[in-house]
Amino acid sequence: MASPVFHGLAGAGLAYALAADARLPLNASLRRAAPLMTGAAALACLPDLDYLPGIATGALNAFHQQGTHSLAWVVLAAAAVWLAGRIWKPARFGWRAFGFLVLLIGSHLAIDLVTADHAPPYGIPLWQPFSGRPVQAPFALLPAWEKASLRDLMSPANARPFAIELTGGLAVAAGCVAAKRSWTRRRAAI
Ligand SMILES: [Zn+2]
Repeated sequence: MASPVFHGLAGAGLAYALAADARLPLNASLRRAAPLMTGAAALACLPDLDYLPGIATGALNAFHQQGTHSLAWVVLAAAAVWLAGRIWKPARFGWRAFGFLVLLIGSHLAIDLVTADHAPPYGIPLWQPFSGRPVQAPFALLPAWEKASLRDLMSPANARPFAIELTGGLAVAAGCVAAKRSWTRRRAAI
């Protein structure tokens, strides 16, 4: 499954495309959107919370790719974040914000579906709790990591997936920024 490098960059790009103010000059716009993009990067990694018990036990994948990688969990997590946001700033957390959160956290599942998986269970339990069958796309766009333990993450074998995720993630984020800015300009001209 993809690492926080790609998930985070994709989440930050998505947040800019959906919620940043692209009428400002590029630098000012990125500066203003930075807290939003940072928060979005963290939210896009949220389903990987299931690594935490594995870190404690030393077997990183012991609890990975289970309930938190399902659509039902994404909706529940988005609802929890949305409710917290609604209490914090009611005016900013309307229904559109809920849709934004579902999309952002759901992007994690979309990316994991198209990442190579070298260890069973192959794929993610997308339909849990209704079906436990793991789901995986018939093609892989991102390579798998060696990650049986925390120490594996530093293995030279992971240099390639890291480089691919970093360049791919930056390209996705830059693409989102460029798309939003061209769309905003077009709209303003009408
Ligand atoms: Zn994941």
